[in-house]
Order: sequence, then structure tokens, then C-alpha cells
Amino acid sequence: MAPDGQLLTREYDPAQAPDVHASEPIPDAARAEIERLLTSGDLFRYTAPEGAPVALLEQEFAALLGARYALAVSSCSAALFLSLKALDLPRGAKVLIPAFTFAAVPSSIVHAECVPVLVEVGDNYRVDMTDFAAKLSDASAVMISHMRGHTSDMDAIMALCDARGIPVIEDAAHSLGTKWHGRNIGTIGRVGCFSFQSYKMINAGEGGIMITDDPEIAARAVIMSGAYEQNWKKHPGLQNSYCHWQNKLPLYNLRMQNLSAAVIRPQLPALADRVAKGRAGHDSVAAVLNDCDWMTVPDALPPEERAPDSIQFNLSDDWSDAQARAFQAAAKARGVTVQIFGLSEGNARAFWNWEFLGPAPELPQTRAMLMRACDVRLPTRLTGAELDFIAHAIVDAAQQIMGRARKS
Ligand SMILES: *Cc1c(COP(=O)(O)O)cnc(C)c1O
Repeated sequence: MAPDGQLLTREYDPAQAPDVHASEPIPDAARAEIERLLTSGDLFRYTAPEGAPVALLEQEFAALLGARYALAVSSCSAALFLSLKALDLPRGAKVLIPAFTFAAVPSSIVHAECVPVLVEVGDNYRVDMTDFAAKLSDASAVMISHMRGHTSDMDAIMALCDARGIPVIEDAAHSLGTKWHGRNIGTIGRVGCFSFQSYKMINAGEGGIMITDDPEIAARAVIMSGAYEQNWKKHPGLQNSYCHWQNKLPLYNLRMQNLSAAVIRPQLPALADRVAKGRAGHDSVAAVLNDCDWMTVPDALPPEERAPDSIQFNLSDDWSDAQARAFQAAAKARGVTVQIFGLSEGNARAFWNWEFLGPAPELPQTRAMLMRACDVRLPTRLTGAELDFIAHAIVDAAQQIMGRARKS
């Protein structure tokens, strides 16, 4: 029930609002394979001599993205951690990350006994290149989170890092299907990491995968992911490197199990369609929001072709915190949940809540962005009418708080 009956109009009855948290069904094609696995009990990726679902997923994913090696693991966070370990960074090495990301990203760096250094992010949600260049000089590695699928200037980032021999890990958890100059996101840096957690483009509940063209990183990551004894032989690649690393590296046991792969594999052929629908849906909502004086949807950088399943927009400078909160309540009364990253208590995407890092650094630009950046889920399955409802309910809620138009 809405706290205030006045917030409601007939047009935006919250009972009519689409459910943006429900998942799409897993394709029927998964059923036969899951049934086979349940019958045989063959759930461990290394039991079958060959052709295990996890191994097939790795081959298919590497081919889909255009990478030489893929390693499926328990989460994207596990993939980020293993990437850092595979780079063999010294303890205490500084790793640059955008200050706008999910708490699991700096956590993976802490877990690898390195030190995250937060870089300012602009109000277009992308890495601020001036701050990045300034902080790069004493960094040993860079982890670029393409947060909510927004791609930072990868040309500038790669040019600066390549010139200094600094490896780049792409946190492409939420970017599957995104392209940069026509190239798949996740194949630009030394390693790319993706998530199969339920709120990403492919849903396995949990799961992650890392891709790389570097045989040494692949061999090291495979062993550390838990390919004990001779199990690395079930990964295609350079046998000599595996022999070299066997028993020299710790086993973190972050493997994926076969049931997860059985859920993921039938979704891969649906990816292109989901990406196209997600982009069209996002752009239709963005057009409505950009017509409203009180908010802006920042443009992508020109080389980026997006694969969004949510929309982010900024409230204009006119808004106070109280008005922004009232807007959230007004949208909620219309059945639409708007998250404002910096305004919700303990939000895992607001850097000042990452208390495990110690005192929060001064990052005024990122902080200001987080206080006015709004986030709304737009699952790719939504119909045109559902997207329309969400877009107009957001504008209607904003106008209820701020008036119909700016007084010029
Ligand atoms: C979801 C997400 C992660 C974490 O992925 P898990 O698979 O849940 O570990 C990391 N980074 C970004 C940008 C994400 O969206």
C-alpha cells in the first residue's frame, strides 16, 4: 500500500507495474541434460574423461567470445581473484579499480593480498581518465569494472597501461554481449571475467568464467581453481606450463560443477537476442527519460555498443536529497523501484560503505554522482508496453515532486 493515496494516479496503478525481479525460465533444452546428470550422479567436472558439461561450456564460451582459453569457476568474484593470483602480483601490490563498482570487486583484491586503489568515476559512470593517469604510476595492475555494463575509455586505458607494461583485468561481470569498436568486451585486457549470477545476462544462480589468450595465465588459473593432480590434462592447452606449475601453486578449489554448466549452455544461443532486446528496451526508456527536464541518461562513448539489462540516469542539479527520496517513494507508489546508489543505507555499490578497506578515500566526483545516480532494472524479457509503463511512471513521479517543467 502506498503511504500516501495522493501519490497514485489511475494511470500508474502499481498493480499494473511489471515485475522486474522475476527471472526468465531456463530453456527447456536444459532439462534432458540435467535429468541425465541426476540419473548418473556425475556432477563433478573432472569425473568424466572428456566432454563434461563444464569443459564443453569452456570451449563454447571461448569460441563465442573469440578467446583462446576459458576457465569456468564458482563466481565472477572467484574469476577476478584467480586472475590476480595468476598474474603473480607481489603481496601489497596496488591494483586500480573504478570507485563505482560492487563491493565484491575490491574484496577480490583484498583476498589476493593486494591493495585496491579507487579511481574517480564521472557522472557518465566511466573512469575519470585524469585521475586514472595520476594514480597509475605506482600501480601493479588495473581491474576495470564495466559497472552496470558501462564501458570506460578502453582505448585510453590500454594505451596508458601498455606503455607501462601494466596488466589489465576486465571485470565484465555485467557486460556479456557488449562491444567496443566491434570487439567483445572481456577480450581487450589480459583477462576478462564474467558472471552467471541471476541478475546477469545469463542466469545460473551463481557462476563465473574467465577468458584469456595468455597460456601462462590460463595454466596458472586452471591449477589454482582446483585442477589437482593430473586434472589439468582435461583442459586443452600447453601441457608444459601445466607440468611446470603443478604442485607449485595452491589449490583454492573454486571450480564450477556440471549442473551449473547444464543450466548455462542452453542459454548461450539466446544471448544475441537478449542483447538486441535489452539495447532496444533500454534506448526506448532512455528517450522518454531524456525528454524530462529533471533527469539525464548519459551517452555511451562512441565505440561502445551496449548490452544493458538495466538503466541508469542522473537527477539534475535542482534536486535536494529530500526531493530525491520523495521521488523514490513516488516511483514506488507507481510500482517502480528506483535505487539511488548513494541514498540507500549500506548500499554495496557506494564506496564509503566498504569499511573493510579502512577509512574511505576522498572521491568527491564519484560521491556526487552516486548521490544522484538512479538505477532501474529492465530485464530483457520486458514488452514494449511494460517498458513504457516504467519510463512514464518514472517521469510522472519526478514531475509530482519537481513540477511539470523547469522554470526558465
Ligand atoms: C555481479 C557483479 C560482480 C560479482 O559477480 P559474482 O558472480 O556475483 O561474483 C562483479 N562485478 C560487477 C560489475 C558485477 O555486476
